[in-house]
Amino acid sequence: MKVTFPHCGSAWVPLKTLFDKHGVGCVVPPPTSKRTLTLGVAHSPEWMCLPYKVLLGNLIEGLELGADTVINVGGPNLCRLGCYARLQEQTLRSMGFNFEMVIFDWQEQQILGLAKFIRRLLGGDKPWTQIARDIRHGIFGQLRLMEELEQRVHWVRPRESEKGAASKVCRSAGDRVAAAHTPEELKRVRGELFSELDSIPLDPQAQPPRVKLLGEFFVAIDPFCNMDIEEELGKRGVEVTRAAYLTEWAKIWLLLQAVGLGHDHKVKKAASPYLSRDVSGDAMQSVGETILHRKEGFDGIIHIMPFTCLPEIIAQNIMPKVTKEHQIPVLTVIVDEQTNKAALITRLEAFVDLMERRRRHAPLTGQR
Ligand code: SF4
Repeated sequence: MKVTFPHCGSAWVPLKTLFDKHGVGCVVPPPTSKRTLTLGVAHSPEWMCLPYKVLLGNLIEGLELGADTVINVGGPNLCRLGCYARLQEQTLRSMGFNFEMVIFDWQEQQILGLAKFIRRLLGGDKPWTQIARDIRHGIFGQLRLMEELEQRVHWVRPRESEKGAASKVCRSAGDRVAAAHTPEELKRVRGELFSELDSIPLDPQAQPPRVKLLGEFFVAIDPFCNMDIEEELGKRGVEVTRAAYLTEWAKIWLLLQAVGLGHDHKVKKAASPYLSRDVSGDAMQSVGETILHRKEGFDGIIHIMPFTCLPEIIAQNIMPKVTKEHQIPVLTVIVDEQTNKAALITRLEAFVDLMERRRRHAPLTGQR
């Protein structure tokens, strides 16, 4: 068996470790690139949302490299994501690939289902205690470390004296964390990575504007789809805080849902005057978090979404009212395969100017 899977943030790190550790063949698709997108677009309906096309491109590249088993997610009660796996399977078969697709339905199966799913992929005979240790090491060890590093990089980038130093450490992290198969090795890698970040010289005068990046989960966390928006803002002296993280998602969907809890009650409550029910995707979070983050003193919100994403179109239509009533600048960024990075950067620069001007006038108006 040779397993492949689409990219989703740093999920490839624990997946590679898991399969390498247990001697299961694993093909990590090449990092998402222009070729990935071109392949995905060529074999997708035009109206499909960008994540579908990118993930399909990842799977094509993984199968081209010899994989024979595809891991995917799906299930009912979701937006288009619920039918991604079946549609992609049909497309890949019509392209002549021969493989088995295994689908994890996280809403139905949660943490126990994940354990069964992993055990099956590893051959069906591993002890449950080993599976539990692997899940803990993968999600709450490796993935958490990758996300803590990203958060640290977001803080260092707008303050670093030598531009690009934090991004360089961040780019080297994936392979180093994937090579850490035990908690002891992970502890050592953590120490090395954080000390590299802590040794970057900082500008003591820097007072970066703070931006919250939120919106559709996949494009918010995928640097190819969002055109390195976090790095581009960091280079322009902005501290970015992202709302979406895979470990947070895992905590909500795999653990809290399993004990009858679920999405953050505060987010739902904040969104409720504008959106009374969950419309799938991340629309509720986009609206609720915009309001909550205004109260946390952010200078601006960037709401990012794929073109044709219905849940985020609903959120986008609510945003002008939220912006007016809560006095916070919101920049909506819509991405698809036609989006031009130069145009995005021009819009980001204008938004940074706007936030800085608001800051300068804050003592006069009493608002930020
Ligand atoms: S949230 Fe939007 S972009 Fe994401 S899968 Fe659903 S419809 Fe597509």
